[in-house]
Amino acid sequence: MSKAITINPANGETENVYERIDILEAKEKTALAGEVYTSWKQTSFAERSKLMYALADLFDADKEEYARLATIEMGKTIVQARKEIEKCAWICRFYADNSESFLAKEIVNTEATRSYVTFQPMGVILAVMPWNFPFYQVIRFAAPAIMAGNTSVLKHASNVQGSAFALEDAFVKAGFPEGVFTNLNISAGKVKDLIEDKNIVAVTLTGSDPAGRSVAAIAGANLKKTVLELGGSDAYIILDDADLDTAAELAMLGRLQNNGQTCIAAKRFIVPEPVYDKFLEIFTNKMRNAKMGDPMDEITFYGPMARFDLRDELHQQVLTTVSQGARLVIGGEMPEGNGAYYPATILADVKPGMEAFDNELFGPVASVIRARDESEAIALANNSRFGLGSGVITSDKERGEKVALQLEAGSSFVNKLVASDPRLPFGGIKNSGYGRELSGYGIREFVNIKSIWVD
Ligand code: NAP
Repeated sequence: MSKAITINPANGETENVYERIDILEAKEKTALAGEVYTSWKQTSFAERSKLMYALADLFDADKEEYARLATIEMGKTIVQARKEIEKCAWICRFYADNSESFLAKEIVNTEATRSYVTFQPMGVILAVMPWNFPFYQVIRFAAPAIMAGNTSVLKHASNVQGSAFALEDAFVKAGFPEGVFTNLNISAGKVKDLIEDKNIVAVTLTGSDPAGRSVAAIAGANLKKTVLELGGSDAYIILDDADLDTAAELAMLGRLQNNGQTCIAAKRFIVPEPVYDKFLEIFTNKMRNAKMGDPMDEITFYGPMARFDLRDELHQQVLTTVSQGARLVIGGEMPEGNGAYYPATILADVKPGMEAFDNELFGPVASVIRARDESEAIALANNSRFGLGSGVITSDKERGEKVALQLEAGSSFVNKLVASDPRLPFGGIKNSGYGRELSGYGIREFVNIKSIWVD
């Protein structure tokens, strides 16, 4: 049987080895989730909310333990890991508070005696999840799906099985019946068998676009619904009226948060000609001064990348972009040592057709792109196969809002880094995926929107 291995990216040491289960066992667990669904869907919102609050309380009480696990497994700083766990508690409480009203029946006036729309659960949802926010990504899907009356099986990323099992335990400790939320430690190669399993009614995947394409194709062949939250190459336009120090600070925070491995991180910075050189100078200083180090250290600003192979891939992308004519301003060199560290790197004069412009760079590497003016900046921002988040930095909020409305993305923020918020829908367009998570829109992805007509 194969194994899922967790290697601490801060030092290269093996932290844990998790025996995988075979597909038969995975299908048995999925069948249990199917059985439990028949009773879980009958529970009231009040009962589900009570358990969801208990789960939130557990995230608060055991925050340190969960945060340390995330840091050890994928290298995010302990400070940011604690924030991730706090966000999980927020999402649980948000859906405990709001699911009933999000899914309340909607009366529609017709010539019927009574006609309305109901939102009924669907069954067992398969969630395929990434390592970059090992707790949050799962809860972002699971809290609404389970509050809606579904049950769920999780195929989490191989390097964060400790977090996956901790989540499964947390659901049980909070009082959810066994089978409402189940971790399946299987390899990616077994996902096809699960999608084809009769107990699975729909699939959600957060991850790279190749994984999304594969899962969507299999689910499509089986006529099962998918929600896809995929990669991004988010553009931030720094308008010529922006306060450049603030813009550079936001750019640095955006690019280095989660060690550069956030789907909605600012990745391409598009700067009009008049302020390009000044912005680059201030941004370079800030990136240079950010402290890279041990993610367990409270003062570390960014830690290692999650896996050595991902660091190697990122480095190749940097080298390719430089060979295509971009200017390496800082970074771009593999540090010595045991960890999967990669230094804050800036590529300037990046243009369409170059690797860093056309593809996602999932690590602490920023691409700075020159634009003639505002309208070229918008065109460059939209010249991407991705469309997840985007941002505008300006001293004129109205101007910023007008630009934001023209950006092709699932969200566009003015003077703030794009961040998910349970009150607002989250998701992408183009190759960044489809469907929405969070808010009332998210909880309606995995329900049967059913019309009732009483003549
Ligand atoms: P990944 O390699 O696509 O892996 C994501 C999950 O999919 C893992 O559980 C992985 O399992 C599984 N997987 C990989 N290939 C598969 C396949 N062909 N069929 C079925 N499952 C498959 O992505 P990652 O490296 O973990 O995450 C980084 C990517 O996720 C980036 O592109 C990032 O932008 C994106 N992301 C998007 C969002 C969003 O909300 N839009 C959020 C976070 C991350 P194994 O680990 O076992 O390979």
